Amino acid sequence: MAPIDNAANPIAASFARWKAGFVEKAVAKGFDRGFVEAQLAGVEPSSAILNQDTRQPEFSKPIGDYVRTAASPVRAAEGIRRKNAEPHMAAIEQKYGVPAEIVVAIWADESGFGKVQGNHDVIQAFATLAFEGRRRDWAEAQLLAAFTMIRDRGVPREKLKGSWAGAMGQTQFIPEAYLRLGQDGDGDGKVDIWSSDADALASAANHLAQEGWRRGESWAVEVIPPPGFDYSVSESEKHPPAWWQAKGIRRADGRSWSAADQVSEAVLLVPAGANGPAFLAFPNHFVIRRYNNSIAYALSIGLLADEMRGEPPLARAWPQETPLSRGQRTDAQTALLSLGYPVGKPDGLIGAGSRDAVRQWQKKNGLTADGYLTPALIEKLKAEAAAMKPAAPAQAPVKQPSGR
Ligand code: CA
Repeated sequence: MAPIDNAANPIAASFARWKAGFVEKAVAKGFDRGFVEAQLAGVEPSSAILNQDTRQPEFSKPIGDYVRTAASPVRAAEGIRRKNAEPHMAAIEQKYGVPAEIVVAIWADESGFGKVQGNHDVIQAFATLAFEGRRRDWAEAQLLAAFTMIRDRGVPREKLKGSWAGAMGQTQFIPEAYLRLGQDGDGDGKVDIWSSDADALASAANHLAQEGWRRGESWAVEVIPPPGFDYSVSESEKHPPAWWQAKGIRRADGRSWSAADQVSEAVLLVPAGANGPAFLAFPNHFVIRRYNNSIAYALSIGLLADEMRGEPPLARAWPQETPLSRGQRTDAQTALLSLGYPVGKPDGLIGAGSRDAVRQWQKKNGLTADGYLTPALIEKLKAEAAAMKPAAPAQAPVKQPSGR
């Protein structure tokens, strides 16, 4: 290797220090020093990855736009075609208990049915993320898992390609997930989530099964809440369908609940507010979120699967939504915080805690408590926070967010 000019290239020097320390850690974990050095030979930190890891989009895509794109009829048609073309599909569905349409929908979303897998060297990706340091332990654990894939599982070094975040193949598994969840769906003795559709589908199904997928239960069902419904129970209360029915909530499709769903429990979701579609989300919705913890993601997977199965489209369409900038979202959180709602450090990422605070604030102000932020609502929050600024900071304690 060419000598590094430390003075001229401080990043290279600092990366070399990280690398030397990490090699010792890998050797202490039982890896051969020559093997480790060979895997890291010529690996340099990727500036593209460093920049992407800290970048957050300025505008959040409204959930309706996201779901419409991800669960489009064109994609459903392609999903049906790919499902029917896969000879191992029925066996995979039987073995793991996850409907084929759900597994195919994940395949569609993660990699466009295998077409978009990412072409980054994952060793370089995790070395960069480990060197960068914010998630060093996690990234170093992925590097060790990648070494195990090469040393013990017969995965060629050049196969280790994936996204800038190190998610690999058609299922977008990080190395630890590959080791823990990867499956040989076509029975050739290898787990090839890059080139084998059956291996990718079996691995995705196994992931959901291991996270507790409940055979025979729905993922969610669209419902229609009655006029004047108190939405403050959404995203927190968990009850069997009959409890929700007693509150006036009915299925959008008019059918009756399956035997499996009747004895399960569901959470009400109104992801685009009270004017948008409402869902009773069963435990399988939250299993999908173990793949990617986002309501929009889980709805996209579930609705694409429904469309593939020929279910009717949503009874209540996604409303026209205004994208919120990061500044607007952060302002909302800052206002909620100064009004005494525990939303954590304002970061512009609206999660369950922020939505719960919005619901509480809406309820206190006699508004429909659907937890949905709009530009008008943010202005009201800011005005109220500004009006109370001179007052003492002490506020009555409020209910903790559910933290789901
Ligand atoms: Ca295989």
